[in-house]
Amino acid sequence: VTRLADADLVSAEIDGLLARFPQSPTWPKKAFLNAQYDAGLAWVHFDRAYGGLGLERQFQEMVKRRLAEAGAPVTTATYIAVNQVSATLHAIGTDDQKRRFLKSIFTGEDSWCQLFSEPGAGSDLAGIATAAVHDDRAWMVNGQKVWSSGAREAKYALLLARTDPYAPKHSGLTMFIMDMRSVGVEVRPLRQADGGARFNEVFLSDVEVDDQLRLGEVGDGWRVGMLVLGTERAATSDFFVRPIEELLSLARERHEAVSPALRDEVVRRWIEARVAGWTQHRQDSEPQRGRSDVLAAIAKVVASEHAQRLSETLAAVMGPAAQVGLDYEAVYAKDMRDEGPASFRSMSPQQFIVRARAMSIEGGTNEILRNIIGERVLGLPQEPRIDKDPPWNQVPR
Ligand SMILES: Cc1cc2nc3c(=O)[nH]c(=O)nc-3n(C[C@H](O)[C@H](O)[C@H](O)COP(=O)(O)OP(=O)(O)OC[C@H]3O[C@@H](n4cnc5c(N)ncnc54)[C@H](O)[C@@H]3O)c2cc1C
Repeated sequence: VTRLADADLVSAEIDGLLARFPQSPTWPKKAFLNAQYDAGLAWVHFDRAYGGLGLERQFQEMVKRRLAEAGAPVTTATYIAVNQVSATLHAIGTDDQKRRFLKSIFTGEDSWCQLFSEPGAGSDLAGIATAAVHDDRAWMVNGQKVWSSGAREAKYALLLARTDPYAPKHSGLTMFIMDMRSVGVEVRPLRQADGGARFNEVFLSDVEVDDQLRLGEVGDGWRVGMLVLGTERAATSDFFVRPIEELLSLARERHEAVSPALRDEVVRRWIEARVAGWTQHRQDSEPQRGRSDVLAAIAKVVASEHAQRLSETLAAVMGPAAQVGLDYEAVYAKDMRDEGPASFRSMSPQQFIVRARAMSIEGGTNEILRNIIGERVLGLPQEPRIDKDPPWNQVPR
């Protein structure tokens, strides 16, 4: 009964929103997205004051479907912002932070990036060295980050920094919101194997961050970081998707070149894609989604490895065409204009085949996630972690 009432409420809000925007070929995009947020239809599971209706997240699917049917505009916000940054801000941000940042994330006005990984700390994220020291006025940040996706166009960053070098490595960290236009922030693009340059190095020299922009308690940065990464990993089954129809139609077009063994492989990919689709529906109707690190780790391993197998089968079906036709310079130019592909669905198949290799690395490597699954699901013995308890500054590096 409650669910029916909730569904009616969402439906009524959608009707009300659409009634305010008589459909025309040109929707006023910004005004529409602002109104969608105010109607609580940005993230239905968020609080009413912050773009939500306080309902279960499964109702977002209804919003997505109905607005798509009406041809309404879709947010252009980057995935990092609209997915993990928004969820983290909503979960632990102060009221001021939520008021200041959530709406402009949804409308796509402000872009965000994650400044976590460093040259000396990727898998061992708790070992980061970027320091934030509080002086009389503000936090002073110094250090270097790397592999920072979207940092060039980002207005704000979630920054993980070490605030207590004398504490054990996990407990000396704090999360901040950093304005990327601050004095002392230098962003340098890095070139990727697919021609693009979404990645960057970010150098931080005496960057001032106001204490009002601290996200969570001092020393609680590890927990906050895990919340961000858990949400990122949980979302990969939506994100790492390439339509299976593309593979099927290529296999049909090239049927003379597709051997019986390769046809078997195509069918296996189709079965996997169907199972992945159902698993995603189950995940979407799970109110606790994103909360559990362990479920998120499993989701990420499964989604990335399926996408990589799909890319290999695509390459086999395409034959030599998979090797040519990736215009590195065009991909680079597009990225430098900050017009990189919005999703894996819209990339050329050649770019997807190369880009898919990174899926088992980003958001935590699959080896690290298998460690988490081994220890926390299967109860296997823990990895030896000799650097866990001593003060971070006494660990040799
Ligand atoms: C597409 C993409 C986007 C990214 N975007 C961002 C971003 O926006 N912000 C950001 O901060 N970072 C980002 N990253 C960085 C990413 O989080 C790191 O690359 C990742 O955590 C691995 O760290 P590393 O590259 O330093 O590799 P390393 O940690 O040096 O690992 C090297 C290899 O050793 C293995 N390994 C390491 N430790 C263990 C262990 N204990 N047990 C078993 N195997 C182990 C790893 O699995 C890996 O195969 C991105 C990466 C990619 C590929």
